[in-house]
Amino acid sequence: MTRVGRVINLTVHGIGPAEREFDPGEDRTWVNIAQFEQVLDAVVGRDDVRITFDDGNSSDVRIALPRLLDRGLTAEFFVLAGEFGKPGRVTEDDVRSLLKAGMRVSSHGWAHRDWRQIDDKQAEEELTGAHQALSELTGQPVSRVAIPFGSYDRHVLRRLRQAGVTLAYTCDGGKATPGSWLQARTSLVCDLDANWIRRVLDDTASPALRARRLVARTVKRVRG
Ligand SMILES: [Zn+2]
Repeated sequence: MTRVGRVINLTVHGIGPAEREFDPGEDRTWVNIAQFEQVLDAVVGRDDVRITFDDGNSSDVRIALPRLLDRGLTAEFFVLAGEFGKPGRVTEDDVRSLLKAGMRVSSHGWAHRDWRQIDDKQAEEELTGAHQALSELTGQPVSRVAIPFGSYDRHVLRRLRQAGVTLAYTCDGGKATPGSWLQARTSLVCDLDANWIRRVLDDTASPALRARRLVARTVKRVRG
């Protein structure tokens, strides 16, 4: 059952064999190619589902891009402006390939820092610096972000608004309202299977889980 006017935002991190050392906990969000294809096949024809990619992993271009194109799907890629060409990350040329293929490229910041833990100077680099670099690279204004680690509080949200961010994605799970400034996403997980896909895409979350998500989101927006 699809509730009118709500969307499901999915987040992909990495796919297939890892090409760099994982950060702590990162293996939880890495999927294999078969799992990724299973998700894409379930998304075809669903205009209420959006696919996003975080972290600018090289699997975005090597594995994801051809499979998206095969299915006529598009996605938004949130890349790290300070990590191009590092082991396992996309290059500037990769970004150009994504754009040329009709994909959207937006910001995941500069160096994958936790935005709740940064000082003003780092915030300048993570937001203004990254937006400038990506706008130059893509030839288009870049003002949409995916918040690293989904880590935010009211100070982070204030900085995003001051930096002119037009849309901020979190990792809070559940459905989102299209057009709203802050939108929840659901991350693919390493043990996803057909049941997981059904649960997420049909959003058969129990009322108790929905209530927990709502409380968690409210706390994050106001905490300092
Ligand atoms: Zn990330």
